[in-house]
Amino acid sequence: MEAFKYSVGKTKVGEDTAIVNLRANCHRVFCQLPDCSYCYDLRMRKFRPTINPYREKQEKQWNELNPAQYTDRLKGVVYLEQITFIRLQEGGDFKNQGDVDKLNEIANRLIGVARLYTYTARPDLNFTKRSENLVINGSGFMVDNEYRVVERLTGTTGAVCQASCLGCMLCKEKGGRTIECLLRHAGKGKKMPSFDFIKERGKA
Ligand code: SF4
Repeated sequence: MEAFKYSVGKTKVGEDTAIVNLRANCHRVFCQLPDCSYCYDLRMRKFRPTINPYREKQEKQWNELNPAQYTDRLKGVVYLEQITFIRLQEGGDFKNQGDVDKLNEIANRLIGVARLYTYTARPDLNFTKRSENLVINGSGFMVDNEYRVVERLTGTTGAVCQASCLGCMLCKEKGGRTIECLLRHAGKGKKMPSFDFIKERGKA
């Protein structure tokens, strides 16, 4: 049996968090960013090409393991690494409704073991039956929270991403919050897009 592929957050999200990707790729059509040159994750993948085959292996393990098997692997990670949270996805997204349903089942099986959270830019999927143990942050739309990319902070939503998850719980709790995130990762030399344009893409 191949070793289960995961990482532990450390400097980015904290040692209390394991990170696992379900899918290697995002689904561009629903992304809030104006084009892929603004994507922090894509630039990381160009800088470190080994990320791509690693993510593809993670997608393969997601496809091949059933919910009970996948849960067992995650339990192993929790006990080995002594973590509290499991973050699903770094740059990928749900491929279909089957992914959502499978993750819900896994989250239910992990109640009392670890808490799960993720991000999605797929407002076309149905999250109404999501697990109490799974926090879903909608990218540009509300699920348990809304993660909203903005050109300028409005200061009206009461929640701002500090771009350092160490000790931050905003995305890990079902808070019903709109979390504003500055589009600070814009590509070098690229003009910042207008807020309206970003919002339109978020609704696409
Ligand atoms: S809001 Fe907090 S938890 Fe969410 S991405 Fe930003 S720093 Fe991380």
